[in-house]
Amino acid sequence: MGVKRACFLNCGTVSAPHSGIEIFGDSHQTMILPVAPALLDTDDGYVLYDTGLHPDGIEDPDRIWGDMKSAVVDFGPENTITNQLKLAGVDPSEIKYVINSHLHFDHTGGNHLFPHATFMVQKTELRFALHPSDYFSACYLDTHMKEPEKYILLDGSTTVLGDILLLFTPGHTPGHQSMVFSLPKSGTFVLPADSAHSYANMEGNSPSGFGTYSMEEAMSVRQMNAIAEYLHGKVWVQHDPDFWKDCKPAPYWYE
Ligand SMILES: [Zn+2]
Repeated sequence: MGVKRACFLNCGTVSAPHSGIEIFGDSHQTMILPVAPALLDTDDGYVLYDTGLHPDGIEDPDRIWGDMKSAVVDFGPENTITNQLKLAGVDPSEIKYVINSHLHFDHTGGNHLFPHATFMVQKTELRFALHPSDYFSACYLDTHMKEPEKYILLDGSTTVLGDILLLFTPGHTPGHQSMVFSLPKSGTFVLPADSAHSYANMEGNSPSGFGTYSMEEAMSVRQMNAIAEYLHGKVWVQHDPDFWKDCKPAPYWYE
């Protein structure tokens, strides 16, 4: 059992105010954030960590994204999850597991494209996605997969498929989870997903401004940092505006 290699997929960009990314940031400054799901090649088959934006939004943004369409910046056919998988040399039908960090629209847009995959999400996240409080409902879209029967529901931190550690990291959403795994040559990867939106979130007490609960989010960041330090791992903040400066996108595979 093990994770043999992993890559990051360039699934476009979304925008947010700086104060959304960093709680003390400038609300008038717009930041451009990559959408970068991770693909893992494991002894149990291919595992996808989030599925990016909904491909039908390219043709019909009003129906698919509603008011959130204004947050989508760059998203063309080359950025859909299926085309990014093909770029990595993987046919979408080969995806055996989809693990959602949480159920916001920029992480679940391609879920419906993997009808034969096994899906995993935190029970707390699905519960909130089905009945979000009004203040946080905008990112949970009815056009995105929410059917409870599709998911294996996880109940807190756990290991899955032998060598993938999923950590319950609430704060951005009530049921957010982050991922940790180790590669043979590249070492340990710590993927906070949206428990951090920038590398600045990982330093000091500056959580994002988007969270359902900032104190929990700050605690989740501390947990990520502690795990990374203990395992000598590298933290990859996939939404950081400078993410691609430090990271090679697919078709490059980290081994
Ligand atoms: Zn996100």
